Amino acid sequence: MKPIQMVDLVGQYEKIKPEVDAALAEVIQSAAFINGPQVKAFEQELAAYLKVKHVIGCGNGTDALQVAMMALGLKPGDEVITASFTFVATVEVLALLGLVPVFADVLPGTFNLDPADVARKVTPRTKAIVPVHLFGQNADMDAMLAIAREYGLHVVEDACQSIGSDHSGPNGRRKSGTMGDIGVTSFFPSKNLGCYGDGGALFTNDDDLAMKIRRVCNHGSRQRYYHEVVGVNSRLDSLQAAVLRAKLPHLDEYARARNAAAAVYDEAFKDIRGLAIPARWQQSTHVFHQYTLRVAGGKRDALKKHLEGHGVPAMVYYPVPCHLQDAYKGPRCPEGSLPVTEQLSGEVLSLPMSTELDDEQLGHITATVKSFFHN
Ligand SMILES: *Cc1c(COP(=O)(O)O)cnc(C)c1O
Repeated sequence: MKPIQMVDLVGQYEKIKPEVDAALAEVIQSAAFINGPQVKAFEQELAAYLKVKHVIGCGNGTDALQVAMMALGLKPGDEVITASFTFVATVEVLALLGLVPVFADVLPGTFNLDPADVARKVTPRTKAIVPVHLFGQNADMDAMLAIAREYGLHVVEDACQSIGSDHSGPNGRRKSGTMGDIGVTSFFPSKNLGCYGDGGALFTNDDDLAMKIRRVCNHGSRQRYYHEVVGVNSRLDSLQAAVLRAKLPHLDEYARARNAAAAVYDEAFKDIRGLAIPARWQQSTHVFHQYTLRVAGGKRDALKKHLEGHGVPAMVYYPVPCHLQDAYKGPRCPEGSLPVTEQLSGEVLSLPMSTELDDEQLGHITATVKSFFHN
């Protein structure tokens, strides 16, 4: 059996090696490393895939979140409602800009923001909602957009884990990250559309926001050496864009491979007591950035050890929610105030998930999980 990894990036590369190698060699020959034609072409191809008007590449997913807040003109003291059960980047950029992260709880089945709690957290200072489409499945965007309309809020979708997934709503099927004012994603190597270093992008259908996003990414400048607003330097480089152009045509096939692995897991685990398979939200397809189980009865860490002892890596995303992190804890959201988030942090366990898992590996993983519960 091939050794099992959380993700198998080399195996994935080997299948598209000729395309990737040729694309990289071409960029190196052209020496157009920054703002080269590969970047423009990738932005256009991704926009066509997402059916969104503008895609703007940037340095990474964290920058994309920060640039989104800056382009929207949010000011220190403005409140932004988001999940505590997320990767820290979502919250970090708010704090860096002097914005106030206000945490809402999530739903225990889908791990995504609970619309009822989001609505409860709205105050006169609230300016935006950041739904995080965690693990590859869209949050309840119809509810988020309805709350935003009611209170006049911006919506920035954190689609770092959900690129390619579809949401079905009153406006038909729309791609993750294209429903709010701005969507952001990350091309970190292990993400569903990963490059070979850091990369990220923002999506919007709004021409004025697109201009502002490009301007922030480029030192607040539209004309070289004339700076209209405070900006940052955040770019997707041409080598990464070339890798992404080679991988984008495979993104849907990658999602199918992930779903096939998830189906094997579901079937193997659905009847195990004390183990909950990930719930599907009926309005979203799932692209399984992670396949995340809930392990009841305080047995999560023991299961993780058992798996690792049998050559099966497993990870906890995320062991400490943002509102309990030293950097972000505060009186406004004390321990106990987000009961679902806090419970999930003690129960979740993500299994290996990649485009390259074969039957033998899946058989070993499922048998190892089952052996823990049948002892
Ligand atoms: C990966 C990730 C980010 C940050 O992306 P980077 O490219 O690593 O900066 C932000 N939010 C979520 C939910 C992520 O998974």
